Amino acid sequence: MRAKNLTGGGKGIHLEDIIESLRKYRSDADVRDILGAYAFASKVHGGQARLSGEPYMSHPMEVALLLTQLKMEPSVIATALLHDTVEDTDATVEDISKLFGEEIARMVEGLTKLAKIRFRTREQRQAENVRKMVLALSEDIRIVIIKLADRLHNMRTLEHLPSHRQKAIALETLDIYAPIAGRLGISWMKSELQELAFMYVHPVEHKKLGKKLAERQEELEKIIQAICNQTKEILMKEHIACDVTARVKNPYSIFKKMKQQELDYDQVHDIIGVRVITASRSDCYRVLGQVHEQWKPISGKLKDYIAIPKENMYQSIHTTVVTGNGRRVEFQIRTQQMHMVAENGIAAHWRYKDGSGLKAADDDGFMWIRRLIDMGRSLDDSEEFLENVKLDLFPDEVYVFTPNQEVKAFPKGATPLDFAYAVHTEIGNHCVSALVNSNPVDLDYLLENGDTVEVITSQTQEPDREWLKIVKTSHARTSILSYIRSREREDAIRLAEQIIKTELSKFGLEPEKYFTPEALATAATGLGFKNTELLLQKIGFSKMPVYGFLQKLLPPEAWTKIRTERQSSIKGFIQKILRRKSAEAPAVQVGDLKNRLVRFAQCCNPVPGDRIFGYITSGQGMVIHTKSCPLLKKLEPDPKKLVEAQWDVEAKKQLHPVRIVVHSANQPGQLATITAAIASCNANISTAVVAQVDAKWGELDITLEIEDLPHLNRVLEAVKKVDGVKSVKRIMQKDLGWTNETGESKIQEKIDRGSG
Ligand code: MN
Repeated sequence: MRAKNLTGGGKGIHLEDIIESLRKYRSDADVRDILGAYAFASKVHGGQARLSGEPYMSHPMEVALLLTQLKMEPSVIATALLHDTVEDTDATVEDISKLFGEEIARMVEGLTKLAKIRFRTREQRQAENVRKMVLALSEDIRIVIIKLADRLHNMRTLEHLPSHRQKAIALETLDIYAPIAGRLGISWMKSELQELAFMYVHPVEHKKLGKKLAERQEELEKIIQAICNQTKEILMKEHIACDVTARVKNPYSIFKKMKQQELDYDQVHDIIGVRVITASRSDCYRVLGQVHEQWKPISGKLKDYIAIPKENMYQSIHTTVVTGNGRRVEFQIRTQQMHMVAENGIAAHWRYKDGSGLKAADDDGFMWIRRLIDMGRSLDDSEEFLENVKLDLFPDEVYVFTPNQEVKAFPKGATPLDFAYAVHTEIGNHCVSALVNSNPVDLDYLLENGDTVEVITSQTQEPDREWLKIVKTSHARTSILSYIRSREREDAIRLAEQIIKTELSKFGLEPEKYFTPEALATAATGLGFKNTELLLQKIGFSKMPVYGFLQKLLPPEAWTKIRTERQSSIKGFIQKILRRKSAEAPAVQVGDLKNRLVRFAQCCNPVPGDRIFGYITSGQGMVIHTKSCPLLKKLEPDPKKLVEAQWDVEAKKQLHPVRIVVHSANQPGQLATITAAIASCNANISTAVVAQVDAKWGELDITLEIEDLPHLNRVLEAVKKVDGVKSVKRIMQKDLGWTNETGESKIQEKIDRGSG
């Protein structure tokens, strides 16, 4: 292969330079993909040129060369050559997959995705979420490293771009890519990116600082020389073998310090840094001891990152001391191995089967990489390690865009509803659907990294209990629950008001007169409630008996009226019938006796039309049950005590109590609508209790006064037709807590307990 044919561009980079650089750390590398990638990229980039006038290929080749400096594997070098083909030419990911396989295609695809991210404002770019998103979008740590190399070459050649583009790219570099390089521990890249960006972002300050440093260059060099020599001398006396270097700190780090501490240049004292590289860990501490013995350390400046490494595995001892002439100098003390990690970070771990095994390093506590890699997989050999470096960097999180390009983080499994609640509770409460990347999706769609999410709201939309199954974030969950609870509370209040008004009307007491806000407030205070809402909620949720409340609400004479009437209407219900029976014609004919004393069982509440039995009780006469009464079956009665009975069709119509349970949507005014439906069938309601309420459904336990079976069926039909009613059932209880053996109710007791 001859260099002439492989010339990439103006600066004279050749494909052979890349291969040669690769061979230095991987002599046996298979370079077929690299050659193929070069040929393919050259063809598709064709006549494209960079703004510098160089052929376009010079850029991917420089990026590839940079990556050989990081000792990247051949597939990464090939990917670098291809990295702009999908973004800038007609080539597709499929083309690349066919030619170079899945692995390279996936990396090119990842780089293409990254190239499309744009952030409008500085605040957006500076958000931690943005950096995490870039990392998460990469899916493979090698994609991030290629992206960093790409950005570094673009920064090195930024001078050819128009100035507004220069500033935008430099800002993005400072906000996103330099911190990522730092995060991955590749510190030389981080500081080069920062220094280059500094020049474009703050050109005036950059120039000023450069001038100041240049003016003092001679003086600074003398100081550096002196301190270097002095340090070496001290350490030599102690027989500590080490390399000592000193330098003026980077302009950008001086600039940052000036800004952070609001200092002028002349006030920044510690602009000189000394680095001591030792042979062993224990030597680091010996060096520290000698340095502190020689110079006075500044308190609070000693940081032992050897004992406690940084998250990105950085290890070093830092200390700042005051030297003879009052100048502050920062010392960084570390071993050769630590130094390599400090410079190349994650890239320092790309090692091949060349003897310098990963195993030793692995034992050294490469915990953070292990954390990044899927747990459970072994890192036994380096090939496998490389496989495993395809990481899910943030396995539990997903990063998405708002329509304004803001990045929001969610737990994995989050849905557009979580997103909606994260934007604003009101947006969440009214969310009807969502667009993801402009396509409509269901509310239970699972958000993916890089999605752009837009919420569609409607003022009529309300949170639904079902939503709790869809959302993943606790914020959304609590917002939905608190909405539902407050809606339930409102419903309970409305229901309570209806119950109270119905009860009052039933006893001929005008609600307008007795159920006034003032009377309500007095009753609430009297019953120990903080406010009237809480009291009404309790009644609505059936946690407080309505008669207990009425007793407090009403003036004594009105309450007495209710109590008396209620006692006569309920306790006296059977007696009334019995009285009527003896006085008038009985409703039931047992055998051929018409005027026999009978009572109607409260468990099954027979009505004319039901098939019935008479049950003879000792000392309490005859109790009438329906033939299907579950309680009667449960009592296993002596057949001798059971008597066939018939309804007396000629008897005057009497009223019989019947319990029904209505399962109905819990909506405002529902009790009133149901009551009206019952009234339209000429049936009276003797009690109505809200048995159970949740957000959606309510259960009404109603006791009616019914003439006969057809009458009951008419009522059931009418209630069934009410909008929102799901079911209506006649209740025959297997066991009434308050029923004795005969099925006769202990109604008096019930009234005393105040239960409606
Ligand atoms: Mn590029």
